[in-house]
Amino acid sequence: MKYFEISPLISERLAVFPGDQKFRRDLSLDFKTGAHLQLSSIQTTLHLGAHADSSGHYHMDGEGIDKRSLHPFFGKAQVIDIELAGSSQNLKERRIYPQDLKVEIRAPRVLLKTNSFPDPNFWQSDFISLSPEVVDFMAARGVSLIGIDTPSVDPETSKALESHQALFKNNISVLEGLVLNAVPAGIYQLVALPLAIADADASPVRAILIESPERFPQSDLIKNI
Ligand SMILES: [Zn+2]
Repeated sequence: MKYFEISPLISERLAVFPGDQKFRRDLSLDFKTGAHLQLSSIQTTLHLGAHADSSGHYHMDGEGIDKRSLHPFFGKAQVIDIELAGSSQNLKERRIYPQDLKVEIRAPRVLLKTNSFPDPNFWQSDFISLSPEVVDFMAARGVSLIGIDTPSVDPETSKALESHQALFKNNISVLEGLVLNAVPAGIYQLVALPLAIADADASPVRAILIESPERFPQSDLIKNI
């Protein structure tokens, strides 16, 4: 069964939102210093690489990631190429509108490939984000999860977080920081489970897209979700 890895490698090099806690891993026991095993701990923002925001991240009445249904995080998903007209200069703070989706929505999970944040280890501010209109548009078509290959569904400098609020209003789950550059547009099976961290605002996910699930009857279990 072929699958695409769509989470970046987690290391101390991974870029995080300006001012947020970078990933750090410390060894408390190490073979190299004579210990009988290797043991380590980490310190990190939960918004690390590919991650799921919980509604408690962007709304006072939201909930912890442990309370969110897992259903949006696995099952049939559609990858859509987003190609916006204009030079890269004009793309700064550009949001995706319904008319930018050039294809029909055919799955309850939609992953948008913008190619506007190409290197997970290098922060750049001018990534493409969502408009509240496109969130409402997808909600009206039964979408339960939206994913994007940028660090946020709103522009970096947004304080109103309009698209996050639209996600809250429509109870849509979200994946940010995906790596989609090697994935052709099409239909896949997504697996991207957040950890059940009590009351947390987010969790990193190990996300994969499984190709051609119809050829593998053993995947029936996840086929209809
Ligand atoms: Zn986030």
